[in-house]
Amino acid sequence: MRVLMMSSEISPFAKTGGLADVAGALPQALAQRGHDVRLIMPLYQSVDRFKHRLLPLSRRLYADWGNERINAELMRCSYPCQYNIPTYFLQQHMLFGRKGLYGENHRDYPDNDRRFAFFNLAVLYAIKALDWCPDVIHLNDWQTGLVPLLLRYHPYIANDPFYQGIKTVFTIHNLAYQGLVFRDLVSRMQLPWSVFTHNGLEFYEQASLLKSGIVFSDHVTTVSPTYAQEIQTEELGGGLEGVLQDRMNDLTGILNGIDVRAWDPKSDPLIPANFSAENLSGKKTCREHLLAKLEINCKPKRPLIGMISRLAEQKGISLIMEALPPLLEKGCGFIVLGNGEKEAEEFFLKLAKKYPKQVSANITYNENLAHEIEAGADIFLMPSRFEPCGLNQLYSMRYGTIPVVHQTGGLADSVVDYTAASLKKKTATGFSFNEYTPNQLQRTLERAVAVFEKEPEVWAQLMQNAMNLDSSWVKSAISYEDVYSKVLNNPRHSIL
Ligand code: ADP
Repeated sequence: MRVLMMSSEISPFAKTGGLADVAGALPQALAQRGHDVRLIMPLYQSVDRFKHRLLPLSRRLYADWGNERINAELMRCSYPCQYNIPTYFLQQHMLFGRKGLYGENHRDYPDNDRRFAFFNLAVLYAIKALDWCPDVIHLNDWQTGLVPLLLRYHPYIANDPFYQGIKTVFTIHNLAYQGLVFRDLVSRMQLPWSVFTHNGLEFYEQASLLKSGIVFSDHVTTVSPTYAQEIQTEELGGGLEGVLQDRMNDLTGILNGIDVRAWDPKSDPLIPANFSAENLSGKKTCREHLLAKLEINCKPKRPLIGMISRLAEQKGISLIMEALPPLLEKGCGFIVLGNGEKEAEEFFLKLAKKYPKQVSANITYNENLAHEIEAGADIFLMPSRFEPCGLNQLYSMRYGTIPVVHQTGGLADSVVDYTAASLKKKTATGFSFNEYTPNQLQRTLERAVAVFEKEPEVWAQLMQNAMNLDSSWVKSAISYEDVYSKVLNNPRHSIL
């Protein structure tokens, strides 16, 4: 199959979250299974053109945004992996040559509608300029949500035979980001106003790019089976539960895998000592190194709790604010790495001031430190209010760092709570709680700390179970393949 993976961020070129990890790793698993997979993303200022050896392709194209004609150029590099996946970049300096991907200084760019509408249309022109027609365009999140709409209704695209057979699969990585923009996008993109209805593009008088992806694509997927159910409810549907229910028969939850080469404690070059489930001595070195580097410590026998996260309300910060301090009073260590909302950043900085010997607050984005924390911590804290899939709990388990999670979305699908029964079955991999309250988090953390301190053999078993889990992409890639086959064997999904 020919698959175009279109994403606004792809690891290792540019990343703000899990979307980039998925867009970087899934194509490798698909290519390994024999598919012709190609990637395309915008060329941001932060993409390292030299390191990734980007070359211009002498393919110039333009797309219109209202009366504005915007030119762009295509660049190409070979994805630095053995499968040599062609990766294209859309170079448009005015729109993408900026410091941030979506905004700066805690603010979105005001012209994100123009930036990503352009990206969507230009990608369709790009495949024609390359004369490479994919069977399926795999779209990811709101930044790519217009493509299925353009394929059906854009005057230059909908009637062009080149695009007739292309099917679309739209993956929701996080329903909380809906890509809401002014309704004049419809006329600026030369689309008919008939698409601007409540069962089409409209979301309370604005246009929702995410909704466009959900309504107009041939199939919708999301990144865990539990999240696929949750987004059809009022609580987590964000107002889109109705359209998601309408698409129930074309909605599949597929749990993300991880890049098992980049996140492997046996060979990870970013950690001070390597280790495996069979030989854990290196993990001790990683812990000591991390504590020394960040100049903190835990009381004897107390665990080191780690957290790596975008600091957003979604990630359970309000629970942590209440539940964590009692654990610190008992002498646990805590390291946080993340940035985002101001209130959360300030909370962690204050906490580090109050417990300077035990808490390290790293309010930044740092890939190397993320690996060191995964390797050196004992417990990984991830009490998200909702979590489409979550990758850090998967990384943690691979590094023998036991996750404490709220039972939601992908966390519920990947972490098995420790009970006598799950221990006996050798499926227990962490600690989880159901009711989203500070009290439940505190009790669950205390449960984890008690096992760490008083039942080392149980802890060792949890580590073994977690480290031996198979989180590779193979299983998920096969599920995506099934989805692609399904859309290819069926006529375009009918709407409106
Ligand atoms: P989300 O996509 O909601 O941010 P995920 O758990 O799916 O959450 O993915 C987050 C990814 O971003 C992981 O690879 C994680 O290691 C990384 N990450 C998040 N914050 C930081 C940070 N401050 N420094 C380094 N990596 C980070």
